[in-house]
Amino acid sequence: MFEKLLIANRGEIALRIHRACREMGIRTVAVHSTADSDAMHVRLADESVCIGPPAARESYLNIPSILTAAALTGADAIHPGIGFMSENATFAEMVEEHGFSFIGPTAEHIRMMGDKITAKKTVKDLGLPTVPGSAGGVPTIDEAREVAKETGYPVLIKASAGGGGKGMKVAKNAEQLEESYNFARAEARAAFGNDEVYMEKYLGKPRHIEVQLLGDTHGNAVHFGERDCSLQRHHQKVIEEAPSPGLNASEREKIGAIAAGVVQKMGYRGVGTMEFLYEDGEFYFIEMNTRLQIEHTISEMITGIDLVREQIRVAAGLPLSHKQEDIICGGHAIECRINAEDAETFMPSPGKIKGFHPPGGLGVRVDSALYEGYTIPPYYDSMIAKLIVHGTSRNECLLRLRRSLEEFVIGGVKTTLPLHRRIISEQEFLNGNYDIHWLENFLGL
Ligand code: ADP
Repeated sequence: MFEKLLIANRGEIALRIHRACREMGIRTVAVHSTADSDAMHVRLADESVCIGPPAARESYLNIPSILTAAALTGADAIHPGIGFMSENATFAEMVEEHGFSFIGPTAEHIRMMGDKITAKKTVKDLGLPTVPGSAGGVPTIDEAREVAKETGYPVLIKASAGGGGKGMKVAKNAEQLEESYNFARAEARAAFGNDEVYMEKYLGKPRHIEVQLLGDTHGNAVHFGERDCSLQRHHQKVIEEAPSPGLNASEREKIGAIAAGVVQKMGYRGVGTMEFLYEDGEFYFIEMNTRLQIEHTISEMITGIDLVREQIRVAAGLPLSHKQEDIICGGHAIECRINAEDAETFMPSPGKIKGFHPPGGLGVRVDSALYEGYTIPPYYDSMIAKLIVHGTSRNECLLRLRRSLEEFVIGGVKTTLPLHRRIISEQEFLNGNYDIHWLENFLGL
């Protein structure tokens, strides 16, 4: 097992990784920008190295600085966390070339799944259903017209390099196609430096269902059930729950087994997530994330398994700790992502925390790097806390979530806590009766 692990990230996820390492007896190295000298992950880590100024491209995205920090501190492994370098195949390659272990899949698998066109083709060939649409890239508007004619409107134009909902645009009809097509390409070029796009039929009322997966280097793969992440705003997840209130036991079993089978055939190492849209009893693969996800916590709560620990173990070459039949999903878990943003306008609200009282009690988990007196810097993602609640049933989970949201106090900055309190009072949410458009309709977007 590794002796010292460098965490190439910040915020709650850096803390999450530190906690797994602590319990495994692995020493930790925090890296941080000058804006994060007082961050909780820096305080708790065994060692810390400042790797640059606040701008992420000069610190958390600065490969030479990160590798130098690892060499200087004698780390033997690097965990990229979520975001930043976590899906950068070149980084994974360089980490290994410099003699460190990368806590994640091979560069080849990151590259394969990072290109969504290749990803779709790969999993389709391995037996997964995908959303009907173009066979590959759509380089001209004339070809876009041809594809749209075949699939029928509305269509969705998506960036091959896409992520975070960027480079994605709907065309409701033939008149809108050219404008949407050009918009998606321009946004993709600006966000990813790559304007290749592909097309999919735009599904009207799907749920977003994803399967948590884990593979080792000994040819084994398992799944940890599914998560329902349909509650989204601008294609960004806001609340997630496991299991999905929209699936029955046989559908659940079927999609889990198929997805784990694909991961096994790929010879995939590490944690990963296959995302599907689910409509009228059918699953359609949309993408695979080759990293830990923010919402991995709810799968941990229903299985009782520490996924970061498992991720580190398989990166060290150990076989999976669990057989599929030993992974029992019990009860129900919901996660609320809490951002330092105005709950109405969603404008970021960085600043000093004056008063921090997280909820507690049975089945309540708060993953956050906040503390009283901490100043949230304006340079990074605005998510500041995850409230995760577990109950023996969905109803118990909802009641516990409601009282936890009532207890939660974060003073000094605006947060999205009021939004979560509003959603938890909505009958359709309580009934589990929602699709990917529900939240935006509720918000009047
Ligand atoms: P990204 O990598 O940018 O997050 P995804 O392919 O994962 O892009 O899609 C993000 C979200 O966009 C999905 O969760 C879903 O809400 C919506 N979406 C994606 N593809 C479709 C589709 N074919 N029809 C309807 N909605 C879609």
